[in-house]
Amino acid sequence: MPIPMNEWCAVSAGDAYDSWGSGVNRAWHIATVRGVAVRLHPTLLLIVPWVLWHWSDRSVDPLRGALFGVFVLGAVFASVAGHELAHAIVAHRFGLAVRDITLLPIGGLTRIEQGPLPPRREAAIALAGPAMNLLLALALSPIVLGLVVVRDLTTIEALARLLAETSVTSLLVFTAISNLLLAFLNLIPAFPMDGGRLLRAWLSTLAERSRATRISVGAGYVVAFLSLLLGAWLRDPTLPVAGLFLGIAAFLEQRTLLLERALQRLPVGQFAVWDGGGVHPDEPLAHALQGGPRDVAVVADGIVVGMLWRETVLRHAHVAHLLRAADVMDRSFVAVSPETSVYEAHRRMLAGGHPAVPVVDPGNRYRGVFTSDRLTHVYRYVQAPRRGAAPWVLVARALGLLGR
Ligand SMILES: [Zn+2]
Repeated sequence: MPIPMNEWCAVSAGDAYDSWGSGVNRAWHIATVRGVAVRLHPTLLLIVPWVLWHWSDRSVDPLRGALFGVFVLGAVFASVAGHELAHAIVAHRFGLAVRDITLLPIGGLTRIEQGPLPPRREAAIALAGPAMNLLLALALSPIVLGLVVVRDLTTIEALARLLAETSVTSLLVFTAISNLLLAFLNLIPAFPMDGGRLLRAWLSTLAERSRATRISVGAGYVVAFLSLLLGAWLRDPTLPVAGLFLGIAAFLEQRTLLLERALQRLPVGQFAVWDGGGVHPDEPLAHALQGGPRDVAVVADGIVVGMLWRETVLRHAHVAHLLRAADVMDRSFVAVSPETSVYEAHRRMLAGGHPAVPVVDPGNRYRGVFTSDRLTHVYRYVQAPRRGAAPWVLVARALGLLGR
């Protein structure tokens, strides 16, 4: 089970590198766009009753109003999905593996498997989302401008009257406004918004990345707190909920940063397994299957000459007695030294698309193998619960946003 070190999680009101992880896996698959699975998180259903109530309450015909509310919700989430797809497409252009897009009550979440990005790339991926919303708003602008002239929408009252209608025109204007709002809200320079990523990308060119992250995350807490206050002041229940999600996302980003730093301090040699010294290139493949199929190093005279991937071994299991380890081993493996950090080892595993790396000393001698299973073990080791994090973690877990 390869674990992504960092996932680009774009919450539509924002983004966060983190481990929203298995909680998001509970979402329902609704579509696949350009090979990227788009999923719907069950918590999204929590806002459906509110939408139905809100729109039927403000409409003369409650049933028509409720139906209109469903269309508005659909239009908003289609815009959010467009925003996330833009992040995903640009990330894909950079050769990063996009896992999936999940639609949540607060917006969307795009999971991209990768380590820390160079500032320019991070900025490009972050900008793509709001840019898509601006493009969508721009595409709708001829209709909106036409309405401004025809319906004389020059006053706020006239606009409010149009938005109170349950018509196709009002839906189009609503969609245009939502896209403008999505673009501008996401550009607020604070985590988990895209603007927070832009801020971090810019600050990383001036200071250390961890410091840049801390500042952007700090700004995220301030925005979360302000939306709680604003919600209380305006007596609007949606703002505190948004603030809570923003706080969780900012916290998750901070947690990822701590995790990253912990993994940077741990030497991979401490977690590598000797695995009987690997297998010899002339040994029958069947020997590599003894003790269960796994990723194993092929070692000749103490030197690693190749890697036998679990998947390859399983594929050849039916002819394992006819083949030698050397026949199917991968010679294009990347080795690491025992002092290499777990973080760097995982980065190289992801970069090479390999589930394991052999660990060798400076004389190229085999010291062990570091596999995805070991990585899972290290993650558990460093992710032991910290007391200070409890309230956010509990809320995130309760909402099914965070894996256990
Ligand atoms: Zn975004």
